[in-house]
Amino acid sequence: MQLEFYGAADRVTGSCHIVHINGRRVLFDCGFIQGNRAAQALNFEPFPFDLNKVDAVVLSHAHLDHSGRLPLLVRRGYKGPIYAQNATCDMVEVLLEDAAHIQEEDARNANRWRKRNNKPLVEPLYGVNDIKAVFKQMVGARYREKIKILPGVKIRFRDAGHIMGSSSVEIWLKESDLKRKIVFSGDLGQYDSPILNDPENLKRADLILMESTYGNRNHRSRDETIEEIGEVIKQADKDKGNVIIPAFAIGRSQDLLYILGSHFKQWQLDKWQIYLNSPMAIEATQVYWNYPHLYDSEATRLRKDVDTMPRISNLHMTKSAAQSKAINKVHHHAIILAASGMMTAGRILHHLKQNISRPECHLIVAGYQGRGTLGRQIVEGADTIKIHNKEYAVKAQIHTVGGLSAHGDQADLLRWLSDYHTKPHVCIIHGEQKAREGLSEKIKAQLGFDTTFGKIGNRIDLANIGGQA
Ligand SMILES: [Zn+2]
Repeated sequence: MQLEFYGAADRVTGSCHIVHINGRRVLFDCGFIQGNRAAQALNFEPFPFDLNKVDAVVLSHAHLDHSGRLPLLVRRGYKGPIYAQNATCDMVEVLLEDAAHIQEEDARNANRWRKRNNKPLVEPLYGVNDIKAVFKQMVGARYREKIKILPGVKIRFRDAGHIMGSSSVEIWLKESDLKRKIVFSGDLGQYDSPILNDPENLKRADLILMESTYGNRNHRSRDETIEEIGEVIKQADKDKGNVIIPAFAIGRSQDLLYILGSHFKQWQLDKWQIYLNSPMAIEATQVYWNYPHLYDSEATRLRKDVDTMPRISNLHMTKSAAQSKAINKVHHHAIILAASGMMTAGRILHHLKQNISRPECHLIVAGYQGRGTLGRQIVEGADTIKIHNKEYAVKAQIHTVGGLSAHGDQADLLRWLSDYHTKPHVCIIHGEQKAREGLSEKIKAQLGFDTTFGKIGNRIDLANIGGQA
């Protein structure tokens, strides 16, 4: 009975872990590796494990850094079940479809340039046809439903409060007389965030696979962040520029629209045109709409009142490419929300091309920017950036706001860990090294749990850990 790491151990993307038990293998997540070109190129490599020996896949949530390589897994021969919470099954369709389109578009763009420069053409990582097979293999489950997925392996999804359908996974393992319980935290949300319930605190585990994206930091408060967004919009009004907001299509876009709607009068938003320029965000909003029983009490109350609430009359949901291109002609008083959140792909790149070199424009960065991404370069103060092989000077005003993250901060992570009745061993994954060290110190000092850092290629023998849960 062993646990092995294949990704998102010492980095934030490419989540992928395997449990070996009774001669079988269960894969937890199969995410995209995101970041700079070299990192992204790793997605094209063969999997570092034998595909034919994977017997089941369990998916914590729909974000691409957890689900993005599932189409490759299936295309290269995996035929077994992919278990996920029901809303995640719906959400993964939205995300993978978008990912497939982006892969195809990126290859087309690259090939245009390659043709002109007599370079060999490239194939997309996968296309729209590849993702249909994934949907057929998905097996949905409710939160708190205990399911047997293999001999000696039971799992249960618990609400992680991160995006709709996101889960921590409880895993019960039995091999001969050896019994162990693992908890895979998945990505954990903030407590008291809008729409979603708080992350569910769990009670028993021998070992916890613990995410640490914000392991060494606490977010600024939500109220301060909202105030800051209001200030930026006021300034952009004076400057006569646009406001660009790269947004993760799921969660953040819905939160931002909610904030704009509830400050409509105060921020004089009737002067502006607001664009949700992301077909995926529009579809994801529909999935949120379809799962009202997963809302927290405030969102449940709001949904009841939805027909009596004022509409944002100048909100444009732009689905088609033509509608999206038309926004390029708007040089001032446009608030544009577009994906991707880390500015690695998608429509946001076109808006950056149009606006990033204009000092009167403002860019609001409201989410985590992974190492090596374009977003990270911008928030770290790059003077120039490269988009689609062309250089652009960064002259727009950049504002990083921290309070809207879909990820819990250090205090949230410690709160989630504080309710255990057992003394679990905590294996820290899914974070940059500083974040992992910061969290590890706090866990040891405040909770007294042992910690280790997951490392790609390492195996943990579960016989040597715990035994009380
Ligand atoms: Zn996530």
